[in-house]
Amino acid sequence: MSIYVDKDKCVACGMCVDACPLGFHFGSDGFAEGNLEIPQDIVDDVWQTIEDCPVGAICLK
Ligand code: SF4
Repeated sequence: MSIYVDKDKCVACGMCVDACPLGFHFGSDGFAEGNLEIPQDIVDDVWQTIEDCPVGAICLK
C-alpha cells in the first residue's frame, strides 16, 4: 500500500510526520509526502492519521 498527500490541501502542520514517521516525511517544498510501499504493521497508524489530518489531505491506496 502507498500513502498519498494532496498538496493542494496540506497546510504543513506536521501532525502526520510526528504521529507516523514511518509513513510520512516532509518534501523539499515543505509539505508532507506519504511514503510508498509502507509496511503492513503501520497501516492502522496511517488510518488514524488520515482521520486526524485537519484538512483531509491524506489517502491510502
Ligand atoms: S496532517 Fe495533513 S495537513 Fe498536516 S502535514 Fe500531514 S497531510 Fe499536511
